Amino acid sequence: MSGAAEPAVVATIDLAAIRHNVALLRQRAGGAAVMVVVKADGYGHGAAECARAALQAGAREVGVATIDEALALRRAGIRAPILAWLHASDAQFRAALEADIALGVSSLAQARAVRAIAATLGRPVRVDLKLDTGLARNGAQAEQWAPIMRELAAAEREGGLRVHGLFSHLARADEPLHPLIDEQAARFRQGVALARRLGLAPTANHLANSAAALTRPDLAFDLVRAGIASYGLSPIPQLGDLGLRPALSLGARIALTKRIGAGDGVSYGHAWTAERAGTVALVPMGYADGLPRALSGRFSVRIGGRRYPAVGRICMDQFLVDLGDNPDGIQAGETATLLGPSALDGTLQGWADELGTISYELATLLRGRTARAYA
Ligand code: PLP
Repeated sequence: MSGAAEPAVVATIDLAAIRHNVALLRQRAGGAAVMVVVKADGYGHGAAECARAALQAGAREVGVATIDEALALRRAGIRAPILAWLHASDAQFRAALEADIALGVSSLAQARAVRAIAATLGRPVRVDLKLDTGLARNGAQAEQWAPIMRELAAAEREGGLRVHGLFSHLARADEPLHPLIDEQAARFRQGVALARRLGLAPTANHLANSAAALTRPDLAFDLVRAGIASYGLSPIPQLGDLGLRPALSLGARIALTKRIGAGDGVSYGHAWTAERAGTVALVPMGYADGLPRALSGRFSVRIGGRRYPAVGRICMDQFLVDLGDNPDGIQAGETATLLGPSALDGTLQGWADELGTISYELATLLRGRTARAYA
């Protein structure tokens, strides 16, 4: 016995699926380049591995929210351009710029901080200016655009930095016919025109996320920032099959099976009671591993070639499956597949529909004792 525990719950990420999705995004976005968005540990799929696969498939850049996420990618050996756009303070700006990480700048204070550090580095650093065109998150509001652009233009003249692109984020890209998309695009174009008048020459402007990259190629500008679609999850499920391939599968090893009698309740609160005598299987995955408790009694697993309902409440570390009279003689050690590519498998989108949420949220929940494997 080696003593090394085999993980009971494994999320397997199909990197070929990621490469396929990125190639599809490149096609759909016309001539625009692709920035693969790997924030939140690659939407729960593993940031560095997914970034590497996306870059192999022709993505040009990598996008993350925080500088910590960007530095982790550098430590993992990712050499491609990385942009980080969400900063709670400027405390890590120097570390980021020294690691050749491009900073998304959303305010005059941030522009000044970057300018001061850039002046000491002896080589120009890259900045992307984020404009708020209607989402009202980070990104500079319109009255701040000119002062920030003047500050950045002055810094460019000093040779300390280069404004590579302007960018903005859409509020309703998942509703492709919504007029706000075009309103935001018009404001974005005004921002780009203002930047040019004030002496900047941004060449990598970007507005589109996955939804816009797939449905509005006219808004691709120079670069699209694609997160969810890179992982094969649809940003607009109502549109049906977009040709994406979900990369994530999830399986868990059955810890035990046991006989129960008619009328026996299982798990906390006895929320489910067996109508007939039969067998249940215990699967060692729970809400602490990212399986939402709200899914209790509302999903199935595949074991071998058959689907079986999960029953009773999902606990912190386990849930139960009703095997009925166990026609296939399922035993401990076999794999219960929660999510996967076969028609019998569950999907993150199916869970999201069941729970009234989005696949983004459920993908990023998978953690705890869930191990990852790459295929
Ligand atoms: N750009 C920004 C600024 C984001 O915050 C995100 C993620 O929410 C994305 C792009 C990627 O969005 P999506 O995953 O919908 O492609």
